[in-house]
Amino acid sequence: MVLPNYKIGKTLGHGSFATVKLADHVVTGHKVAIKILNRVKIKDIKVYETVQREIKILRFLMHPHIIRQYEVIETPDDIYVVMEYVKSGELFDYIVQKGRLQEDEGRLLFQQIISGVEYCHRNKVVHRDLKPENILLDSKRNIKIVDFGLSNVMQDGHFFKTSCGSPNYAAPEVISGKPYAGPEVDIWSCGVILYALLCGRLPFDDENIPNLFNKIKRGEYTLPDHLSYAARDLIPRMLMVDPIVRISIPEIRQHPWFNIHIPRYLAVPPLDISAQKFDEEIIQEAVSIGFDRKEIVESLSNRIQNEATVTYYILLDNRRRVHGDYSQSKFKDTLDGTFDSTLHMAASQVGYSFPALVDNHRRTTGLGSRIKVDKKWTLGLQSQAHPREIMNDVFKALQNLKVFWKKIGDYNIKCRWVRIHNNNISEDNMIEDDECAIISPTVIKFELQLYKVSEGKYLLDIQRVDGPQFIFLDLCVAFLTELGVM
Ligand code: ATP
Repeated sequence: MVLPNYKIGKTLGHGSFATVKLADHVVTGHKVAIKILNRVKIKDIKVYETVQREIKILRFLMHPHIIRQYEVIETPDDIYVVMEYVKSGELFDYIVQKGRLQEDEGRLLFQQIISGVEYCHRNKVVHRDLKPENILLDSKRNIKIVDFGLSNVMQDGHFFKTSCGSPNYAAPEVISGKPYAGPEVDIWSCGVILYALLCGRLPFDDENIPNLFNKIKRGEYTLPDHLSYAARDLIPRMLMVDPIVRISIPEIRQHPWFNIHIPRYLAVPPLDISAQKFDEEIIQEAVSIGFDRKEIVESLSNRIQNEATVTYYILLDNRRRVHGDYSQSKFKDTLDGTFDSTLHMAASQVGYSFPALVDNHRRTTGLGSRIKVDKKWTLGLQSQAHPREIMNDVFKALQNLKVFWKKIGDYNIKCRWVRIHNNNISEDNMIEDDECAIISPTVIKFELQLYKVSEGKYLLDIQRVDGPQFIFLDLCVAFLTELGVM
């Protein structure tokens, strides 16, 4: 009654809050997985929020290596999430069964994982719980990243503090409770996954959690001799304890180990493909089933979820499943810029960025966007100096401005600046009447964070936390003057 378009079959598995069933999509006859979440079981507000967040994020993510969510059907008792069916199970079981993988096999899986994670980051989503248990393999042994329950949407200038994910895969800054921007913690987890793929065991392991955390914080692990020279170079770059020097995804893409035998569709970063194009053959197939062509195209373009679009995506995924159809052009078809621009708009409402500044400083080279795909953004000061040197300049400038600061991490500081206005000060700066002098301090609180944009390029982001905006801007001008930018 509730799901007239599906014929429910056997149970695929049980999660902490859901039962997942296999089902046939009646219109196409293809298999889907339906996650059934009982509202009573998810009534805890945190669990409910997690479920809603995952649904919301997956609704927009469309990538061949990220699980596709076709539709969500809500009733007063249950929430039914209809997803792509992934036949073969978890990457975890595959590693356990096979032991370590040959580098060629591990590389292909890793390339797919990185492409999916890169797509998330470009769409401002950080997964935060990447591990082989959350990576499924389909019947052709292709990767599907699942479980976005702990994922979150990044907002420019905002940092996450929530410690999440599984301890063995968690980055040092996460377990130390330090703020993190997002992508760097996923890259660490991918480094742990790469190690597990190629070595058949975890780099950091200990039954005793404090010991495990110490190993992670010290970056204490061994590289077995069987690893190739290039793999021995890449893994330590991903497992850099200091997030600012940890390799970024664009750098992973440049790494020689990553680039061997890379399939054509994975060789291009997903969002460089901006043109919205849908698969004509699949549209024809949907038309032959009885859907109206105009409705399909319009609904796909506007990202409307209806029977026509559900059918389109089920047909598309089935073709991929059957033919291993991952050519670059097919990959293009599933992407458009809608989600990206929506989130960029949301992000533009937060944080305070500076207007464009000229490149007139010895080292500070003007402003640049942190996310390369959207050049409209100007988010902070970009510099090519060494991060320590940048921070030294920052501290000197703050000291000269009598700003108080507290170090949250090596590259993240909380600042407090107090401006005293004396309303009774005369032009020659003499207080006219001591009795009546009104001393009114204004407190500005702000945060500074240094990010790595790409190899050798760093971005200093300044964000007001509290205090009047105009006085904050005055302070920024003084700060930039101290740095020699203005
Ligand atoms: P937890 O909720 O505790 O994190 P989980 O993530 O495994 O566990 P679910 O996402 O509810 O929980 O999935 C339960 C089980 O259903 C999985 O372990 C898996 O075996 C199966 N399953 C989930 N999604 C799919 C899918 N798309 N295709 C095939 N099987 C699936």
